[in-house]
Amino acid sequence: MKNFLHFIFRHRYDIFYSCILILIFAFVFYMFPKDETKTIIKHLENKTFDIRQSIISKNKKVNKDIIIVTVDNPSYEYLTEKYGDWPIPRNVYADIINYIEAQNPKYIVFDLLFIKTLNRIPKSDVKLINAFKNYNNIYTAVSFDDYPKEMRVPPIIDKKLSSNILNIPSNIEPEKFINARLILPEIIQATSNIGHINTIKDDDGFIRKIPAFIEYSDNCYLYLTFKLGIDYLNKYENQNISKLQVDKNNNLILGKRKIPLNNNAQVILNWYGKSGITNDNSFKYISFWEILKEMENQETNDIFKDKIVYIGTSVSSLSDIKTVPTEKYMPGVEVHATLLNNIIDNSLIKQAPLSTNIIITIILSLIFITTVFFIRSVAANVIIYLLTNIIYLYLSAYIMSKHNLWIWIIIPIFISGLVFVSSFIIKYLIKSRDFEYTYKLATTDGLTELYNHRYFQEQLRFKIKQAEKLKNSFSVIIIDIDFFKKFNDTYGHQAGDAVLKNVAKTLKSCVRSEDYVCRYGGEEMTIILNNTSHESAVNIAQKVCNTIASKKFELTPELEVNVTISLGVATYPDNGNTPSEIIEYADKCLYNAKETGRNKVGSLN
Ligand code: GH3
Ligand code: MG
Ligand code: MG
Repeated sequence: MKNFLHFIFRHRYDIFYSCILILIFAFVFYMFPKDETKTIIKHLENKTFDIRQSIISKNKKVNKDIIIVTVDNPSYEYLTEKYGDWPIPRNVYADIINYIEAQNPKYIVFDLLFIKTLNRIPKSDVKLINAFKNYNNIYTAVSFDDYPKEMRVPPIIDKKLSSNILNIPSNIEPEKFINARLILPEIIQATSNIGHINTIKDDDGFIRKIPAFIEYSDNCYLYLTFKLGIDYLNKYENQNISKLQVDKNNNLILGKRKIPLNNNAQVILNWYGKSGITNDNSFKYISFWEILKEMENQETNDIFKDKIVYIGTSVSSLSDIKTVPTEKYMPGVEVHATLLNNIIDNSLIKQAPLSTNIIITIILSLIFITTVFFIRSVAANVIIYLLTNIIYLYLSAYIMSKHNLWIWIIIPIFISGLVFVSSFIIKYLIKSRDFEYTYKLATTDGLTELYNHRYFQEQLRFKIKQAEKLKNSFSVIIIDIDFFKKFNDTYGHQAGDAVLKNVAKTLKSCVRSEDYVCRYGGEEMTIILNNTSHESAVNIAQKVCNTIASKKFELTPELEVNVTISLGVATYPDNGNTPSEIIEYADKCLYNAKETGRNKVGSLN
């Protein structure tokens, strides 16, 4: 405890500086607009997520059971030429369903909305409806929105499409919608394999998350691919997921899997490589028109055997194009494929808890504080700082790839960076204070606190150089206390010391701040008078002499004594050009003063 207090006391200035610095930073933070700061930090953190995803996506392998069939630009041209304007008659989808079903796929999922349109052909709709009736492995979508009820009456959606989710913690608030766009009611009658396809964009227009479920007229609706994913796990992994549950750590429990949700019931996707290029880390795409051609040519094929077939559009004019961390233009249907792949692999991204991020920030800060205070070289410190940050960036990407965990980068690096800079500032404040202290020790006399002999000699040389250059003059006064030996003998050395101190103080008060009062040695003192002629210097010397003579020095409350001094004055360049010539001249004058009665300014003429 004593040691600790001693440590605190010894470092009281350092602690003071640190506190001031922290207060300044806190003030700057406080002054910053909070919402804007939050937005900027969030935006930057999202960008680091994108970079990490791009790095790690190169090593990911997609599930080859997932195939994407798209109405791409050539397909769109092929279809519109054959059937006229979009949307095409729905019997085309029915035919495709029948063709693919003949190959025994696991699922066929339409990322398309089979809405009621004016130019629909009821007969072809019936074909599609029948396909939905015939096969129980076909999925399709509904979409929710916030159109005012005056514009479109919010439809009542069959309860069988909603999902009962138990124990939703109060901090999770799924996105709420007030309206919906209904699809053909006969499809809803035919199947309950229907989920929503509402996506959410971050402020920068990127899609990173998907709402696992949303709320509409007090019911929860699962995202289309979650609906499919759950059925997949039940059927192909023998999980027994019936009622959905969210645990207290915001995980959606899917059998053995715990799917991390954020406060809006959204999941963060783990993205794969480039879309449209078929290799190990991207999904296989097949053009819609190619399948139509195969059907026309009555080719038999089994590319869809045991596959999960997503059907969607990638035509720019149909505007289902998303920007995602790894890809600027990704067809919305691939977002579904990505999510399904994540659910099957249990690789959805989890945000690290706040405590983990705080611990990381503290560890980084401690590393920087330690290196700054224990390693001298600035270059070494900067290199360590940069290396640590680079290692941290790689580590965070590694953790994301191995544990699907998103640890923060921006806040830990920003705060530890501030700590790094502050440590430097404090280190240099301490150093400069130490330097000041040593400089004072080296230049002043301990007893009188006047400049010491060495400093006097240094200044004298410097003044000569300066005066030479500026062609002006300066003077030196040498002072010796009269009969000081006797004073010591009479009153003791302690009294002598006190008088020396007092004389020194009085001398300082007699001259300007730019003049130097020094202790030459013993009871001899000197004054360097800047830019002063001999005549003025003699006048000043006389004034000093009178001041000392008239001053009462109090030894004890009862005892006051007088001392006198003798002085000699020399002026550059009048009385000499070198330090020794000037000191010698002043000494001679002082000797003359002693010779002729003391308590006076001596002279040589
Ligand atoms: P004079 O008028 O001729 O200068 O007589 P003086 O006695 O002052 O001269 P002298 O050179 O014989 O004696 C100087 C004395 O100053 C001797 C020493 O005891 C005293 N002295 C020198 N430095 C100190 C000091 O730091 N403290 C004290 N108390 N006395 C000092
Ligand atoms: Mg002396
Ligand atoms: Mg003396």
